[in-house]
Amino acid sequence: MRRSLRELTSPPGRVARFGEQWLINFASNDYLGLAAHPALVEAAQRAARDFGAGAGASRLICGSLQPHHELETALAAFKSTEAALTFATGHAAALGAVVAVVGRGDVVILDKLAHACLVDAAKLSGAKLRVFRHNDLNDLERKLRWAADKHPAGRVLVVTESVFSMDGNLAPLRNIVELKERFGAWLFVDEAHATGLFGEHRRGLVEEFGLAGRVEIQMTTLGKAVGAAGGAICGSRDLIELLINRARPFLFSTAPVPAAAAAARAGLEILRTAEGEQRRQRLWQVVESLKTTLIESGFPPSVVRAPIIPVRIGPEAEAVALADALRAAGVLVPAIRYPTVARRQARLRVTASADHTGEDLAALRAALSAAREKLEPPGHA
Ligand SMILES: *Cc1c(COP(=O)(O)O)cnc(C)c1O
Repeated sequence: MRRSLRELTSPPGRVARFGEQWLINFASNDYLGLAAHPALVEAAQRAARDFGAGAGASRLICGSLQPHHELETALAAFKSTEAALTFATGHAAALGAVVAVVGRGDVVILDKLAHACLVDAAKLSGAKLRVFRHNDLNDLERKLRWAADKHPAGRVLVVTESVFSMDGNLAPLRNIVELKERFGAWLFVDEAHATGLFGEHRRGLVEEFGLAGRVEIQMTTLGKAVGAAGGAICGSRDLIELLINRARPFLFSTAPVPAAAAAARAGLEILRTAEGEQRRQRLWQVVESLKTTLIESGFPPSVVRAPIIPVRIGPEAEAVALADALRAAGVLVPAIRYPTVARRQARLRVTASADHTGEDLAALRAALSAAREKLEPPGHA
């Protein structure tokens, strides 16, 4: 299970260079191909020139740099919430927000497959932690009832992802919202893999399902479809005021570099425009082609509605051997294994980018067939 780092010597994109080897990249979360987009690179350069390379201090100590305010205004407008607050990473945003809103005497009810940062946040908060079976509304209702019986005075926070990062499936957010409203609980939704991809204005799954105004805490990263780096919480002005005063990763950490904030704002600007819509449509076309390629190559994927397309393998060693064979054949597809997913549920995780071409998919098809031949004895169907 030991991991090691491989040095990447090219910018993010549809191809990745490791030393002398170029690989077609099916591993990135840069879904819309914005991470190396000239508009983001130029925004970062301009911000570094105008505001410096480093932020100098935390935002409450030394003054809060203009690019961060501009980004937060753009984020609140994009997500259509009263306000937004940015953090250095999505991970920090989750820790900061959950710990700020619940504590001892409160209850956090978490989806079984929620991201590690949400689990850590819930533990760190000191609230009672209950886990409901993945996307299981009956189990969620049981846990909500338990919380109402046992902790009638406490606040109850339900926490889930909207698009699950290792399975590519969606949370039944409409039903979850109805349930949490019935029990007077709050809802925290991590839109890390939905921002930019779902909803009429590409705000995320909360928008796609028509739930704007009914989710108390919306979290996102700025490092995936937005193409930059950072994390954000979007919600009411009162919530953001609370976080400015209580979120420890915000209070006790140097502000992100101005270049990151400016790049994220440029990424959001593209998401808002026709180019954002074109890139999204192209991404969904690539997702469909990828599914077909995988099925035709004998590696049928799980049912997904996301640019995350897992192919379940099972044993860790088998998934790693497949990923190695694919790399030898020129494509980068990561093997995901414990502790990122449960033991013996290892998988190949193919991620789509709007920039993938027909040739890239043909290369994947050829690599899958080469990997199959290498790993299966002759004569095996
Ligand atoms: C990537 C990810 C995060 C963390 O965001 P960063 O900005 O990378 O720290 C949080 N939640 C989910 C579901 C993620 O996939």
